[in-house]
Amino acid sequence: MSDKVLVLNATYEPLNVCSARRAIVLVLKQKAEAIETSGRVFHSAENAFPLPAVIRLSNFVRVPHGKTRRVSRRAVLARDRHSCQYCGSRFHLTIDHIIPRSRGGESTWENIVTSCAPCNSRKGDRLPYEVNMRLRSKPRPPDPKALICMAVSEIHLSWKRYLDYAVA
Ligand SMILES: [Zn+2]
Repeated sequence: MSDKVLVLNATYEPLNVCSARRAIVLVLKQKAEAIETSGRVFHSAENAFPLPAVIRLSNFVRVPHGKTRRVSRRAVLARDRHSCQYCGSRFHLTIDHIIPRSRGGESTWENIVTSCAPCNSRKGDRLPYEVNMRLRSKPRPPDPKALICMAVSEIHLSWKRYLDYAVA
């Protein structure tokens, strides 16, 4: 079983995933409470306590919707389910700026999509419509729950009710 811990906001909204070590630190510092345990026990020099599987932050963390959540290649691929947003290919994936940077396109969730290398080179420094290419879906900031599900190889049973998410 993974040693990843699901982190919930004070409102029980899933935020992200952290390591068991980090979760323990947060609990010990009383910045979070363990609300589900993994069934395993963590031993330190002085004591032992159940390893958390889900923690809830004591203070509400404001998560600005989309805007400031950092765009990363890994997260773009996860959002796009590892498929080219122009042709659907799952091979030789790269990141494409829909409006090319050379033409003022920014690195935002709305302007970056997963593209296979052939589509990317076909598109070059042009806009999709200029080369008769079409996006399969409108790019949006990712759903944090979807990213959580994709960040781990296995969803811990105790996470499911908090994720409230149909895991593919
Ligand atoms: Zn493609």
